[in-house]
Amino acid sequence: MVTIAVIAREALDRIVAETAADPEREACGLLLGTDDAILEARPCANVADDPATRFEINPVALLAAHRAARAGDARVIGCYHSHPNGYAAPSPRDAADAAPDSGLWLIAAGSVVTAWRAVPDGAVHGRFDPVTLRCVTGEAITGVRHKDIS
Ligand SMILES: [Zn+2]
Repeated sequence: MVTIAVIAREALDRIVAETAADPEREACGLLLGTDDAILEARPCANVADDPATRFEINPVALLAAHRAARAGDARVIGCYHSHPNGYAAPSPRDAADAAPDSGLWLIAAGSVVTAWRAVPDGAVHGRFDPVTLRCVTGEAITGVRHKDIS
C-alpha cells in the first residue's frame, strides 16, 4: 500500500545538503514532526563502524530528541540517511536494521530522496512499504495540523 507523507521544503533541502556535504559517508539524522508531516530534518552523527556503507544514529542525540518530545517538542517520526552508492532505495541491510515500528525512512542519493515506512511485512525486503513524498512549505504543514485539530 502506498501512503502519502508531506515534508517541509526546508527539511528536504537540509537532507539533500547533508547528503552532498560528504558524499563518501552515509549522512543520517532524525525526522521530527507529527504523524505523516515532516517539519524538521535534524542531522546526527553517524556512529557506525563503517559509515561508508552503514549508518547508526548517535544514540545520545536520539535520546535527547525523545526527551525533548516528551517536554512538548515535535515528535521523532522517523529517520533519514544517504546512500553514497547512488541508489535511493532501502538496502537489505537497512531492512535488517529497521525495527518494524520505526516509522518513516527517507533515503537520499544525490538530490533524489525516497520515502518508506517500516512495517512488519513490507513489500521491499519484507520490511518497507513505499511512501509518496509531497514537498510543501512549513506553513502549509502547520495549516494541516490546525485543520486536523479543529
Ligand atoms: Zn541504507
